[in-house]
Amino acid sequence: MLKHTIRSLKKRLSSISTTNTPREEVDCVVIGAGVVGIAVARELALKGREVLVVDSASTFGTGTSSRNSQVIHAGIYYLPNSLKALFCVRGRKLLYSYCSEHGIPHKQTGKLIVATSSSEIPNLYQLMNRGAQNGVDGLRMLEGFEAMKMEPQLQCLKALLSPFSGIVDVHSLMLSLMGEAESHGATFSYNSTVISGHLEDNRLHLHIVGSNHLDSWDGKSPLPLELILIPKLVVNSAGLSALPLARRFNGLNSGIIPPVHYARGCYFTLSNTRVPPFQHLIYPIPEDGGLGVHVTLDLDGQIKFGPDVEWVHGVDDKSSFLDKYDYSVSASRAERFYPEIRKYYPNLRDGSLVPGYAGIRPKITGPGQSHIDFVIQGEDSHQLPGLVNLFGIESPGLTSSLAIAEYIAARFLK
Ligand SMILES: Cc1cc2nc3c(=O)[nH]c(=O)nc-3n(C[C@H](O)[C@H](O)[C@H](O)COP(=O)(O)OP(=O)(O)OC[C@H]3O[C@@H](n4cnc5c(N)ncnc54)[C@H](O)[C@@H]3O)c2cc1C
Repeated sequence: MLKHTIRSLKKRLSSISTTNTPREEVDCVVIGAGVVGIAVARELALKGREVLVVDSASTFGTGTSSRNSQVIHAGIYYLPNSLKALFCVRGRKLLYSYCSEHGIPHKQTGKLIVATSSSEIPNLYQLMNRGAQNGVDGLRMLEGFEAMKMEPQLQCLKALLSPFSGIVDVHSLMLSLMGEAESHGATFSYNSTVISGHLEDNRLHLHIVGSNHLDSWDGKSPLPLELILIPKLVVNSAGLSALPLARRFNGLNSGIIPPVHYARGCYFTLSNTRVPPFQHLIYPIPEDGGLGVHVTLDLDGQIKFGPDVEWVHGVDDKSSFLDKYDYSVSASRAERFYPEIRKYYPNLRDGSLVPGYAGIRPKITGPGQSHIDFVIQGEDSHQLPGLVNLFGIESPGLTSSLAIAEYIAARFLK
């Protein structure tokens, strides 16, 4: 019965408008087909559950999951015992195994976090201690000359070597996870926006609208609902939209929904260089809101620098649901990048930085506020059965994706 229902949903979602909105009972709904939503859908499907994934975009992975550094983080930066620390360390191990077993392009490049002034050296030791507390193996403090021998273009006083950091092709990863989810019965429905929800008979009812109806929407007037989904389990994995969407769930205590903050990060690529100057990922000491303008390698050997931090304000729900953020990278921003990069790469030539792409971090703390953990809210937080909200899934969300999925299945499947 449920199998039939889920199969028929795709058809229904593409057929518009009805005065009496149809209602469908579903087992599990995942909102958002980014790397985290897809990983969750796969895990639930592998556990034998019926899964429907709805995404407002026309295909999977168009949000933050395709606008990041593609770095597999080791787990150094995060507060011990935080979800970020636990998921990053566990997720990294799961991710390397998954990539090896499924032929996903990836590389364990290793990473150097560098101190370029003596005032930064204590921070480097703090990071090493924190990494050790988080269970990150293999961390080693290098003298500047040792690091510069490994990377002749590098300039630094000391460096923390993290041998288990690496890079992954996120698109291939998402494709593979989706394939597995689908072969275990999961259905993906695109151009389908969850616009709001309401509580009825102690279950969350999701209001689904064709994304094309949002284009001309003023953001306030009621939209023609296509379908009301009544799932046993809902995982709100809408990335940048997870918070504004949760606010539109009528009946959910808004007092427990954290504030939303967006921090844009731009990348520049290195041009005019035949041989990549670095073999390792090179990171400075972290800054407020991000990990600092670092060197990331693509699997094809291209070098990019970024992301910086620029706080974005005044995003409305419609822009958020339709991913209409400003992702443009102005060439003039390069002027801020050159001095930052030259602290550790003094040979960077004038005119060699070309605008790349931008991504936006879904944050729940604003400028100058201390870092906060991932927030995963289940019934024990909001007393609404069957709803799991994923808030603030910024970096290391990609690295953590398989561990988050594992955790959700273990904690919330009944
Ligand atoms: C600049 C930057 C660099 C990063 N670098 C790294 C890194 O190197 N390593 C790492 O581990 N992590 C990194 N991250 C973090 C990582 O990219 C994210 O944690 C991860 O991609 C989040 O995936 P997601 O599935 O939660 O969200 P998303 O990929 O944003 O997916 C959310 C999906 O929800 C859909 N959606 C939105 N609203 C609705 C709605 N109302 N109804 C239906 N669907 C909806 C969207 O269309 C989208 O497809 C970085 C992040 C940024 C911004």
